[in-house]
Amino acid sequence: MAYPYLFSPIEINGMELKNRIVMTAMHLGYTPEGKVTDRLVDFYALRAKGGVGLIIVGGCPIDEYGGMSSMICIYDDRYIPGLRRLVDAVKGNGAKIAAQLYQAGRYTHSAMIGGRKPFSASAVRSKLTGETPRALDLEEISGVQDRFAEAAGRARKAGFDAVEVLGSAGYLISQFLSPVTNKREDRYGGTLENRMRFGVEVVEKVREAVGPDYPVIMRLAGNDFMEGGCTNLEAGIFAEALEKAGVDLFNITGGWHETRVPQLTMNVPRGAYVYLAQGIKAVVSKPVLASNRINDPDMAEAILRNGEADMVTMARGLLADPELPRKAQNGQARLIYHCIACNQGCFDEIFSLRPATCLVNPMAGREGALSVDRAQTAKKVLVIGGGVAGMKAACVAAERGHNVSLVEQTDRLGGQALLNRSIPGREEMATAAFDLAGNLRDLGVEITLGRKVDVPFVKDMKPDAIVVATGSRPIMPQIPGVGMEHVVQAWDVLDGKAGVGRRVVVVGGNAVGLETALHLARVGTLSPEVLHFLTANNAETAETITELLNKGSKEVTVIEMTRKAGKDIGLSTRWTVMAELRRLGVTIMTGVTAVAVTEDGLDIEKEDGKGFLSADSIVLAVGSNPENGLLTELEGLVPEVYAIGDAKSPRKAMEAIREGFETGTKI
Ligand code: SF4
Repeated sequence: MAYPYLFSPIEINGMELKNRIVMTAMHLGYTPEGKVTDRLVDFYALRAKGGVGLIIVGGCPIDEYGGMSSMICIYDDRYIPGLRRLVDAVKGNGAKIAAQLYQAGRYTHSAMIGGRKPFSASAVRSKLTGETPRALDLEEISGVQDRFAEAAGRARKAGFDAVEVLGSAGYLISQFLSPVTNKREDRYGGTLENRMRFGVEVVEKVREAVGPDYPVIMRLAGNDFMEGGCTNLEAGIFAEALEKAGVDLFNITGGWHETRVPQLTMNVPRGAYVYLAQGIKAVVSKPVLASNRINDPDMAEAILRNGEADMVTMARGLLADPELPRKAQNGQARLIYHCIACNQGCFDEIFSLRPATCLVNPMAGREGALSVDRAQTAKKVLVIGGGVAGMKAACVAAERGHNVSLVEQTDRLGGQALLNRSIPGREEMATAAFDLAGNLRDLGVEITLGRKVDVPFVKDMKPDAIVVATGSRPIMPQIPGVGMEHVVQAWDVLDGKAGVGRRVVVVGGNAVGLETALHLARVGTLSPEVLHFLTANNAETAETITELLNKGSKEVTVIEMTRKAGKDIGLSTRWTVMAELRRLGVTIMTGVTAVAVTEDGLDIEKEDGKGFLSADSIVLAVGSNPENGLLTELEGLVPEVYAIGDAKSPRKAMEAIREGFETGTKI
């Protein structure tokens, strides 16, 4: 049997789970008025059908003060009928379902709750909202705890198989636990025992409300990653107390939303926070779930086999591929579309107040509206270009029964996505290309590499439809000296086709420019293996290790003509890229234009006048133009011609894959 640990059943206080995969709660933006919608039901029904053991939905605000009205509300009986519909859809498709009980405390923005002041353990300003909450009066505390208990009772009434109390990420329960946000001097503040009291009492009341035979899950930060906050040690002590109070399963995640330690971005290594779950598992006897950046059944199986945790969560992993559990169980893990932690379709959309979707799965969030149906007539389809847009179009067209050929002029599939392999922390982008290539082969698409398509080729092949997905080519700015030998394109640097000297100026401060700067600034720093070796053997002092990690062999400067660099990087990721650049000593100059390249540098123009930057190499990252010259030549030759992705207009991988998908469905 494939993945015997992952697919072994487990019982949690009477709840029988068929496997160890849990889709943990994430805000999706599919419930604009707080009530369950068809969109939400369709979304989760498909995930249940895909084979996941347990789905936790939410956050579900337990009152009107701790969450947005557009979340899956559970604070009033009027929500029960909708919740029941969701529960029935998930259970009807073979999974179990739990409701996550949510109270965000000082992470709530007053604008989200009708201008009212959010409350917390103490009046400590939240960096997330920029607001200072009010401290709960002693007499109010019991009422807030009662709302948790009432919501739990409502969840049971609606048919949920379990509830999860949200005590992580810097929400209300963790605000009471942490000395950073709890400055109280009553019995809920001061000692750790006092700070734990609020959460412990919440669990006791929830237990009382749902009875002894109903699973209660607790989500906890394994380490707040906040200066002066709780570490894995305090989290363990809290977990022990919570176990006594009635928790049946611990869901262990990473730090708070305010932490400067990345939690969910692509630069977080896969499985980075499993050690936190392991720490909690060492002190409790109830099962423990490991969370964050677990996107692959091989890794999940290893975590369980090694005894690091009892179960794993995959939320974005199932947004990206609802079929992940089924594919893994059926020996088709090679066909999984992995979540690549780009956050572009999910968190970045949510932060922009748009519903979540997914870069690798354009159907996510539109399950009821989109489908890949068998074509009425099987056509001969030629896809030109093996980047992500072309591969997605070819996959979908082949799934629909068309006879598809894909021709790529280079000797590899993947296009621009492969350039990310040399950017520190962006390597996972290439996974999207590898996954598409794997599916392409499995679907029987005829792949030809190293062949440039021209008109005679098309005339000879006589396809019914052509998809032009030939990508783009980098722009060469029209400035004096740009043709000199020490001027290279960023794409060539990332692809290993061009080398650079010690002092480098990157022209262009959007994603490509900044990520190329990251790649160059990392040259000469310690590799993970050498770092491990030196640290394990105490070979260098901590100061030397830090210096060797942060200082490479190149001096890198990025110039950007607008006032802000990295504007095209999503909100959830931009700060991590900027922090890395800062750590590696990259200089970023904004409001600066390249005027001319000279033998030893670059003439520039700044807001306060002219200037000069000494450099051994100039790297160009000033955008790209569509590479679609073939389009006009194909006019009238073939009944259906589509241009997609960068060949239509250079944009991000998410648009390219979406267009590939949409084109594949309409041929
Ligand atoms: Fe994962 Fe990116 Fe999809 Fe979000 S948008 S689920 S991070 S692949």
